[in-house]
Amino acid sequence: MARRGTNLDRVGDFNDAVVLDAIRRSEQLSRVELAEATGLSGQAISNIARRLLDAGLVREAGRLRGAGLGKPRTLLELEPTGRYAVGVHLDPSVVTVVLLDLTGEVVARRVVDQYADDPDPLIDGIAKTIEDVVVASGAPRERVTGVGIAAPGPIDVERGVVVDPPNLSTWHLVPLRDQLQERTGLPIILDKDVTAAASAERWAGQGGSFVFFYLGTGVGAGLVIGDEVIRGASSNVGEIGHVIVDPDGPVCFCGRRGCVGEASQPRYLVAQAVRAGVLAGGIDLDDRLAVEAAFAELCASAGEPGAARDIVTTLAARIAKVVEDIANLLDLDRVVFGGPHWQQLAPVLGDAVRTALDGRFLLQAVHPFEVTGTALGADVGAIGAASLVLDRTFSPNPSLAGER
Ligand SMILES: [Zn+2]
Repeated sequence: MARRGTNLDRVGDFNDAVVLDAIRRSEQLSRVELAEATGLSGQAISNIARRLLDAGLVREAGRLRGAGLGKPRTLLELEPTGRYAVGVHLDPSVVTVVLLDLTGEVVARRVVDQYADDPDPLIDGIAKTIEDVVVASGAPRERVTGVGIAAPGPIDVERGVVVDPPNLSTWHLVPLRDQLQERTGLPIILDKDVTAAASAERWAGQGGSFVFFYLGTGVGAGLVIGDEVIRGASSNVGEIGHVIVDPDGPVCFCGRRGCVGEASQPRYLVAQAVRAGVLAGGIDLDDRLAVEAAFAELCASAGEPGAARDIVTTLAARIAKVVEDIANLLDLDRVVFGGPHWQQLAPVLGDAVRTALDGRFLLQAVHPFEVTGTALGADVGAIGAASLVLDRTFSPNPSLAGER
């Protein structure tokens, strides 16, 4: 298969990226330590360090006085303002834009406010919000390396096209990458929301083997195995939304009943809560804002034992079954939950999933299995999208060495 191209500018050469990556992982390193860590010669490190300093990607950060003899060693660290990356998370209910500095810190954030379902005005809104975020941060525009977009699947990565996102009824085969590139003039990469979220967790320093379980307008799974983001044949890995967890559950848009994606939606949980008498009747289930408000009320009530909590623990058992199968299949060491609905369900759902999984993970005797929530909060999709740009630009990936 031919290598896929990208129009992102990648850092100098492979060895420059290796050195930059070593500095990023350790936060601060001297030239001597860099030579030890990378296997490159002292002279090579010296030349590369000079290039990275000149390019404004690293800076000197004081001196380290060793116990032995010899002159003190100058430490190198990333220059946070050296480069920036934009991340856009296209979720059908909210579109978030963030700007990360070179160390991966969020320096500015905005929600697209002219929200529209139609692709054209929404893409205009995203382009304008990107400009606003860059201006608000004070980052020089020429240091913005590119824009990552995290979009719901399925997507056509090759052509930069969003195919048929659930709950965005007017979106069909939208060439989002090229249209946003035209409007911003910046290099753009498009990837799946769950892959971006998994990449953000990994970039934040949490490697290993895990599934990122995304609970939003759709449900999906991002995968990192052996510290590598898994993408599948067409970068559409993680479509688990239609695993059936309740044969008597709600009818899904796929035509079947009880898919985990549909059974996790606030709309369905709110309807259940009305039937159980937890919420007052008369909620318009087609009104997104009304459903969101009712869902927040349901989540708050679930803090106490009772019917509201039972609804959430039943959901937890269903989700746990899906997590169990993925974890056993792929020999994972943890599940990381995230996404807008997770934030609200977390206080009850996390423990309930842990309880439901107890004793069901087959490899328990060999290694533990952890249930955690993302440390990156509700913006994990947008942060992930930007981290894909940083990763693509600055990580030493031999398989991408020929990419330009
Ligand atoms: Zn379905």
